[in-house]
Amino acid sequence: MSKDIEIVWREFKTFCSEKILPSDDAIMMYLDTCLPVSLDDGTFVLEVGNPFAREQIKTRFLDKMSAALCEMGLGEKVELVLNDSKPDEEAEKRAANITATSRVSSPKNGLNQNYIFSSFVPGKSNRLALAASLAVADVPGKAYNPLFIWGKVGLGKTHLMHAIGNHILNTKPGTKVLYVSAETFTNDLIRSIRENTQFNFKNYYRENDILMIDDVQFIVNKDTTQEEFFNTFNFLYTAGKQIVLSADSPPRDIKGLEERLVSRFSSGLVTDIQPPDFETRVAILQKKAELKNYSLPEDTIMFIAQNIPSNIRELEGALNRVVACSDFNKEPINTENVSVWLKDMLRLNVNGAVNIGLIQQLVAETFGISIEDLLSQNRSADLALARQVAMYIARNKTNESLQQIGYAFNKKDHTTVIHACKKIEDLLKKDLRVRSFVDNIVNKL
Ligand code: ADP
Ligand code: MG
Repeated sequence: MSKDIEIVWREFKTFCSEKILPSDDAIMMYLDTCLPVSLDDGTFVLEVGNPFAREQIKTRFLDKMSAALCEMGLGEKVELVLNDSKPDEEAEKRAANITATSRVSSPKNGLNQNYIFSSFVPGKSNRLALAASLAVADVPGKAYNPLFIWGKVGLGKTHLMHAIGNHILNTKPGTKVLYVSAETFTNDLIRSIRENTQFNFKNYYRENDILMIDDVQFIVNKDTTQEEFFNTFNFLYTAGKQIVLSADSPPRDIKGLEERLVSRFSSGLVTDIQPPDFETRVAILQKKAELKNYSLPEDTIMFIAQNIPSNIRELEGALNRVVACSDFNKEPINTENVSVWLKDMLRLNVNGAVNIGLIQQLVAETFGISIEDLLSQNRSADLALARQVAMYIARNKTNESLQQIGYAFNKKDHTTVIHACKKIEDLLKKDLRVRSFVDNIVNKL
């Protein structure tokens, strides 16, 4: 980087922090992921290594940033170009070294080094949680404090917490980071009371710059723990230290959590992770396969992603099992074999067909009705339509006979099914709403 461009860049950041920051304080942490490359003829080229940061800058800040460059007097019109950065081997080695050293000096930070941002696949379902985690990792104690991430099990909460810690240790080596489960926190507290070492306990938890406590729903109904948790929280918070928490539900919904903790936990940013959609599941499987050097055919990845709908830990387990089965049986990985190896995990029949029960469930969800209504004799127009859609999909997506489908819908006579299929085929040609219902449900299968 030449001296000039370095100066411009520094000034630019100051300028942005004064002009843009008041309305949007996320910009600084994204700018910190950029390196200025060149500046000539009204074009300012920046390298942004982090794809998420690149997207954020592109969608949220690019206009403001070029306006700021003009205002700084760099030209009447300044175009900003964002480039990928090539991974820098030296820098990576350095980072690895730093991490190794900082681990020696703080061996018990509780972090798993495999959980890092670059192995976390972004998707609609985790976008906000990821953005918030990046922000916290880049400017701990400032962006969102506390950061509270909630979601069902197996969706990536723990991964994000470790990634925050690892990132901070890489970029700010001297920082004191501690990750513990709420269970460990509780056990440590109990032991300290038993052994009369509360003073050590307090020090151990209060001397951190970043304290991350996972699965805080675990501390409910334990009064002493909640009390100590509250004191630790206040101590760190008022000292400007970063706190990151996770739980299986938002603070307000954690039964048995004291009101004062609910309000503390909600005072920063509360963000959730939802089950991943199909595209994200495919991307996660691809990423995990790549990391582990597994090679799987594309259609098999799709097949697994389609049939293990909601939990990333299970997706990973499925992937491992497939590879193990293939090695062990000396058989190729293909969809047919996979459907046998994973049969107890997949949400379909052994013979590979989607089952009618699942279709009914998805149709009921999509139409916002109950399964009982779907299977009832009630002939209201909405219910009739939902029923016909379900029969149509069952006919097209399962190997069940007309008669079996009829039975599954409490119809003695299979002509009802034939009629339903015809009706929906007709509607699909002219009714957008019906088409989108059907597409939607079929996609979910
Ligand atoms: P939680 O703490 O929410 O129960 P974890 O963080 O333990 O879930 O995640 C379960 C597994 O799924 C971990 O192996 C984690 O690496 C993986 N995982 C979750 N979300 C993602 C993601 N978006 N990209 C890659 N792997 C993920
Ligand atoms: Mg977890």
